[in-house]
Amino acid sequence: MSVADAALRSVLAPEDRSHLQAICGERVRFDEPLAPYTSWKIGGPADAWIVVESETQLAEIMRFCGKRRVPWFVLGSGSNLLVGDGGIRGIVLRLAGEFTAISVTEEQHAVLVEAGASAGMAALTAKAASAGARGIGSLAGIPGSVGGSLRMNAGTDREIGDFVRDVWVQSPAKPQAHPVTVHYYYRHTSLARDAIVSRVRLQFERGDPHGTRMEMQQRLVRRKNTQPIALPNAGSCFRNPPGDKAARLIEAAGAKGWREGGAEVSSLHANFINNLGGATAKDVATLLARVRRSVVERFGVELQLEVHLVGVFVDEL
Ligand SMILES: Cc1cc2nc3c(=O)[nH]c(=O)nc-3n(C[C@H](O)[C@H](O)[C@H](O)COP(=O)(O)OP(=O)(O)OC[C@H]3O[C@@H](n4cnc5c(N)ncnc54)[C@H](O)[C@@H]3O)c2cc1C
Repeated sequence: MSVADAALRSVLAPEDRSHLQAICGERVRFDEPLAPYTSWKIGGPADAWIVVESETQLAEIMRFCGKRRVPWFVLGSGSNLLVGDGGIRGIVLRLAGEFTAISVTEEQHAVLVEAGASAGMAALTAKAASAGARGIGSLAGIPGSVGGSLRMNAGTDREIGDFVRDVWVQSPAKPQAHPVTVHYYYRHTSLARDAIVSRVRLQFERGDPHGTRMEMQQRLVRRKNTQPIALPNAGSCFRNPPGDKAARLIEAAGAKGWREGGAEVSSLHANFINNLGGATAKDVATLLARVRRSVVERFGVELQLEVHLVGVFVDEL
């Protein structure tokens, strides 16, 4: 068997499939295409796609993965992911049900927001703004889930990590939800690789709800005018290098409008790559490499990827 064929073969044994079917019922689908679950609309199949609706269900799957040594990956809203055309081997988890809950508590000087990892940042920011959560505008317009945003330390001028008070995670080694301390860096965190965020508690200073909502609205309008929203993309592909902007360097390298198959460097925001229709992960990966090479050649700056590349990347299927 060739290396490519081996990489495309499911790692789930027939007994794994029957066991997953028995414990998950309709919540598991085998050989499920992942493209519909990513904002780029790109990506091959997962050996198993499981919708997990509670911390108890997640603990059960974690125990199974640990015992059977089955690889797994948690997919949030898929807004920062390039999934390979060969898909992802093992189990891909999507948190739902109780993981989408959001509760907001107003204290005298603070607004506390407790959210499940699968809650959308759009719903969270809207609710928090209505309670006057100061600084929430910097998290507005991020199309991810709470868990994905925490893993990425997503944000703009301020980041989600600035507001986090508590984080609970689950993992194969410790399946029950438990609190952990996380350190936050520019678009990444110290969160262990095998930790799935199950819920978080954020804390904001309490301000005037009207002013907070207005500020958030203005930021959303600014975003609409500066970012391509009509075509599938994954936001900024590269992190900003110290003291500069990736978009400025990419534009100055003349890359705006470059195409590879169905993928194109946006002419509105050079750090975005759009799927014009039918783009493959290979198209996007080729374009990313070309952009990176041209910025190194022109400016001597090695851009680092912000988007996560996952799964199997193959030349031809
Ligand atoms: C139009 C557009 C605009 C964007 N603007 C911004 C912006 O202003 N600022 C910014 O920072 N980002 C931005 N992004 C990128 C993206 O939205 C963020 O990185 C977002 O936080 C990713 O969340 P997600 O749920 O989509 O994560 P996914 O893309 O699904 O996953 C990203 C990573 O997080 C991990 N992950 C997901 N859920 C969990 C969990 N529960 N526990 C542990 N790990 C988990 C995944 O395994 C993966 O490694 C933008 C994207 C788009 C498409």
